[in-house]
Amino acid sequence: MGTRRASGDGASRSRGKDGDRRVGRRALLIGTAVAAVGTAVVARDELTRAWWRVPGVTKPRKEGEVDYAGARWVAASDANWRLADRPDDFGIDMVVIHVTQGSFASAVRVFQDPKHGAASHYIVRKDGHVTQMIRELDVAYHAGNRDYNERSVGIEHEGFVDRPQDFTDEMYEASARLTARICARYDIPLDREHIIGHVEVPGTDHTDPGEHWDWDRYMKLVRAAAAKGSGAATT
Ligand SMILES: [Zn+2]
Repeated sequence: MGTRRASGDGASRSRGKDGDRRVGRRALLIGTAVAAVGTAVVARDELTRAWWRVPGVTKPRKEGEVDYAGARWVAASDANWRLADRPDDFGIDMVVIHVTQGSFASAVRVFQDPKHGAASHYIVRKDGHVTQMIRELDVAYHAGNRDYNERSVGIEHEGFVDRPQDFTDEMYEASARLTARICARYDIPLDREHIIGHVEVPGTDHTDPGEHWDWDRYMKLVRAAAAKGSGAATT
């Protein structure tokens, strides 16, 4: 994890600078009013993240704030996650893919239940809707392994592992966009070492996302979404 984060930090810094410079140029060319609007839009997902990299800072939180612009916030019970200051206290270098083994509504219900003892950061619905229930700053109890919980973001997918028809086009695409954004934010490599299934977490007895989850397709979609994202940021 140490070496990975060291090399990743450099890449992220240069990308951050590019982003700032782009906004700066716009401000000069277009004028203050338009630039202010542009900055506000970028700030939602990018500029506010600059202070994530400053060590020793307790990050400000706002009720209902999401880490992914496309997500709707529904709070999980605070018994199902632990307050943290990631990625400063724990580096994030992994995304863990889950399947809910139930409906979207039942997943939301159990994540809101303090007795459940588990919840993930995100749930992706069959229609592609994304719900965030725990901040990426915090450690969600989703992987059944303390180390993996501390270093990962967990994404649930509505459906059952033995029902391939549950994994819709909309779900794959929405989840891939979400994973691409998470990986871009923390400089997580887009490979199967870092984007894993719950079944691959050491010590787990869970089998999700199961044999019907199409990893080749998913990884292609993640890489395509990442390429599109970085392309948009430089034009
Ligand atoms: Zn799982």
